[in-house]
Amino acid sequence: MQKRDGHIHTPFCPHGSNDTLRQYAEEALKKGFDSITFTEHAPLPPSFTDPTPLKDSAMAQASLERYINEISRLKKEYRGQLAIRTGLEVDYIAEFEDEITLFLDTYGPYLDDSILSVHFLRAGSSYLCLDYDEHTFKELISACGSIEAVYEQYYRSIYSSIVASLGSNKPKRVGHITLVQKFIKLFPYSMSEHIRGLVSQCLSAIEENGMELDFNTSGLRKTYAGSVYIEDWMLNEAKQKKIPLVFGSDAHQAGDVGYAYETFLKGAN
Ligand SMILES: [Zn+2]
Ligand SMILES: [Zn+2]
Repeated sequence: MQKRDGHIHTPFCPHGSNDTLRQYAEEALKKGFDSITFTEHAPLPPSFTDPTPLKDSAMAQASLERYINEISRLKKEYRGQLAIRTGLEVDYIAEFEDEITLFLDTYGPYLDDSILSVHFLRAGSSYLCLDYDEHTFKELISACGSIEAVYEQYYRSIYSSIVASLGSNKPKRVGHITLVQKFIKLFPYSMSEHIRGLVSQCLSAIEENGMELDFNTSGLRKTYAGSVYIEDWMLNEAKQKKIPLVFGSDAHQAGDVGYAYETFLKGAN
């Protein structure tokens, strides 16, 4: 089996480290990987306002061309040693489907392998970034009315992302399907039958649409998550449905490339 890390950030991430693309590639080689995908946070839709204090959730549109060019240079440099794919982690925000589609129509042809993630949920007239910090998550709970209501909105949004058209360059992989649990140790909640039902619907839609799942280990590095971003029962359902599981470290610094790969080997096989 190919050893692959399909979710890696870069120096183009405004909330990540300045480690260079080459440092990420070298780390991958050192850890015996055959293949990596750089999946920087794609520029947000032009008319969407990033709700985070520093507005640093995603890369700037102005950097995108350089991002694509630098990765394609690195691809050539590592040819024969390490397969490098160009990708993006694209945010799905329901009300901005048209802008997301236009973006993908324009830049999709330069991408090999991308991820579709939900980080922003609507709270009243604005949005909140659900994984920004515990205070924001608390705000989200107040805005939605309960923890269960946050989960409900999250999984409805994930479902919409899976069935949305978004054009022929729509990303194939659903990112960290339990990101909503990032602060679970502070806001304990075990999924009700209703929420589990929504997750199952998401998995069925992933299967029907020929998509993949990100087996994201970054939750293990997060104090209040403490777990990979997928539950065992979801893994079992995914395996029954033969949904491809792709390891993703979600590294925002070179040292985290390949993070907890052994968990993937145990969990995904
Ligand atoms: Zn990030
Ligand atoms: Zn993400």
